[in-house]
Amino acid sequence: MTIQRTLSIIKPDATKRNLVGKILAHIEDAGLKILGTRMLWLTENQAKEFYAVHKERPFYNELVEYMRSGPVVVTCLEGENAIEKYREVMGATNPENAADGTIRKLYAESLQCNSVHGSDAPETAQTEVSFFFNDESLFTY
Ligand code: ATP
Ligand code: MG
Repeated sequence: MTIQRTLSIIKPDATKRNLVGKILAHIEDAGLKILGTRMLWLTENQAKEFYAVHKERPFYNELVEYMRSGPVVVTCLEGENAIEKYREVMGATNPENAADGTIRKLYAESLQCNSVHGSDAPETAQTEVSFFFNDESLFTY
């Protein structure tokens, strides 16, 4: 087990339904520590760049538009095995397949509007955390 950092995004469907506090509570209850968090409204370029890995997928343009349909809350998390642990707390991409008690099972509206993002590997976690946070805006405590 290693201490890892990962990036969470509370997506527009969730911010618009006042679910930020409930989702952060799931994160904290799982023992994941918040090192930094802020709300922002993604620009078109930010949304495109963040999800560039999916640019050949048929849902890419819709995904970019959806991610710009309201503000998001980006959070850097730290903990033992944090990347996989947060993926477990989130649940499967499609809420119909998500396990009971997970964020997506409880709150997601659809495959696209699935309330949260979490990094999926150590390399992507590092890139994604630095996409939104510099070292001075993350606190170790
Ligand atoms: P995320 O990267 O947001 O944490 P994920 O890793 O579980 O989600 P990905 O395959 O990376 O899933 O897809 C990125 C996002 O694109 C999904 O979370 C969802 O919002 C959207 N998405 C994925 N597949 C589809 C699809 N078939 N139709 C519409 N939207 C989709
Ligand atoms: Mg993904």
